[in-house]
Amino acid sequence: MVPQARDTDILILGAGGAGLFAALHAHKAAPELSISVAVKGLLGKCGCTRMVQGGYNVALAKEDSVERHFMDTIEGGKWLPDQELAWKLVTLAIERIHELENELGCFFDRNPDGTVHQKAFAGQTFDRTVHKGDLTGIEIMNRLAEQVWARRIQRLEEHRAVELVKSADGASIAGALFIDMRTGEYLFVRAKAVLLATGGGPTMYRYHTPSGDKSCDGLAMALRAGLALRDMEMVQFHPTGLLAGTHTRMTGTVLEEGLRGSGGYLLGGDKQRFMPNYDPKAERATRDFVSRAMFSEIRKGNTTPHGGLYISMAHLGAERVRKEFKGMVERCADCGFDLAGGLVEVVPTAHYMMGGVEFAADCTTGLAGLFVAGEDSGGVHGANRLGGNGVANSTVFGAVAGDAMAVWVQEHGRFSPPADFDLARYERPFNLPRGDLEAIREKLYDTMWQRVGIIRDAPGLKRALGELEALDAALDETGIGSQARAFNLSWHDWLNLKSLVAVSRVIAQSALAREDSRGAHYRDDFPDTGDLATSAYTSITADGRVAMKPVAFTRVRPGQSLLKHAA
Ligand SMILES: Cc1cc2nc3c(=O)[nH]c(=O)nc-3n(C[C@H](O)[C@H](O)[C@H](O)COP(=O)(O)OP(=O)(O)OC[C@H]3O[C@@H](n4cnc5c(N)ncnc54)[C@H](O)[C@@H]3O)c2cc1C
Repeated sequence: MVPQARDTDILILGAGGAGLFAALHAHKAAPELSISVAVKGLLGKCGCTRMVQGGYNVALAKEDSVERHFMDTIEGGKWLPDQELAWKLVTLAIERIHELENELGCFFDRNPDGTVHQKAFAGQTFDRTVHKGDLTGIEIMNRLAEQVWARRIQRLEEHRAVELVKSADGASIAGALFIDMRTGEYLFVRAKAVLLATGGGPTMYRYHTPSGDKSCDGLAMALRAGLALRDMEMVQFHPTGLLAGTHTRMTGTVLEEGLRGSGGYLLGGDKQRFMPNYDPKAERATRDFVSRAMFSEIRKGNTTPHGGLYISMAHLGAERVRKEFKGMVERCADCGFDLAGGLVEVVPTAHYMMGGVEFAADCTTGLAGLFVAGEDSGGVHGANRLGGNGVANSTVFGAVAGDAMAVWVQEHGRFSPPADFDLARYERPFNLPRGDLEAIREKLYDTMWQRVGIIRDAPGLKRALGELEALDAALDETGIGSQARAFNLSWHDWLNLKSLVAVSRVIAQSALAREDSRGAHYRDDFPDTGDLATSAYTSITADGRVAMKPVAFTRVRPGQSLLKHAA
């Protein structure tokens, strides 16, 4: 089977906030270059940027400052963020929000005096989250997609990237290999520069929030291309995922943080509050604390019929809850729960991966011509991402990547002859007897939730690594029982699981290597934070080797602050 081939100067993998911003910026910087955006789903309709509810962090108010946003990001990240990346995030977020409003046409909520309304989000010392009601992501993605459609930018929709193809001499990127999901045919796209922006996505956990098209393909491809991933043990769980049984995909979706923020209670299966036993801030503690306390209660067996816990809002008054949380009340009602007056079953749900490809502040990676941005990248958030810093990250670094790729292609860009690629890796499930992919997925969910999830220890992580190895071997013996190629969902499911298992292994290996507890990573056998002044981050390659690399405190050291009054 010989892949079709085509050429483009700049190839962008993924069409979320990062991919689309990159396309627009590259086009603006160098309109003469050909740019192609390839995406597993439909452009503008998939990925997690579209799902952003809460909003976008940016220091706009006179009383706020980039220094304050920076310090919140560094302290929230438990001193593990790369400080140059975090600085770029907070400073360029201001440019991007103005571009979103004034050039791309986003309407964000405003105060009566005409200034942009900014709301409170957990972990921040200032109310700096810009939003459009609770549908901020739809506003951003619709405007971005319209602008991409209006320009001479090629779209490869329902094209799944399966491999980053290096040049024959191995020195640079030569392009990427795709499966056209509509026909099942392979396509090789030769490119001078490639952006990896497929958005990570911890969908290997039993309960998760990201969109179903995200299966860590980009991270798995980066590992196979020899790139190092950092902070992979840092997986953020959101405390209140809806738990409505296995028959609905609503299970795992987020019930917003404001429910706890406004005074909601979490109850065990015994209908008693348990958070005050764990933390003086009770339900208003940060996401990592609350998730951990919830997981402990679940482990004790104090659970609801579906094995989770309850959120209760009724004591705030049903009318108020209906008014303030209309969307959430409706979502719960769809699943048979009465949020305003009754109890709703919830469970912590895997939300975001702080880890990703190691990269520099201009979005370059260890492979010449390959750039990375958004949730596929690592180092901006360290051990924890502040709510609202996710979409800021993807739009800020997407734009940086677009600008940088345009310059790079103009200065160094050339089409390189590609190294050989072997289609056998993707063809494998066609040549094996039909097996049970669902059983493999269930086992993966169990392993990751029980042993590589919210509370970890060495015996559990070692056991998980054995189980993940066995799952990978099982996948290699599992066929899909069909030769159909067009929209063969079993084939894509198989490919998804291959990526998820590969990335699960590096999460478990990195978690085993980090012998302390920071932010999203908690080790029962190493509960202390460790010395902040000698903080190191994990860096892992495909061979499973983990290096602990010291964090460079380029702007501020633990115990110091950039804020004048705190110095
Ligand atoms: C429910 C939910 C609510 C959130 N709310 C907020 C919030 O309020 N504030 C905030 O800051 N952040 C929030 N986030 C996080 C935020 O969505 C992400 O940080 C950010 O949008 C990621 O942008 P991205 O461009 O990196 O990835 P995405 O927007 O996820 O885009 C990834 C793209 O890559 C494509 N893709 C994947 N695999 C392949 C492949 N193999 N080949 C080709 N294309 C591929 C996907 O189809 C998609 O188009 C939320 C996330 C979720 C899930």
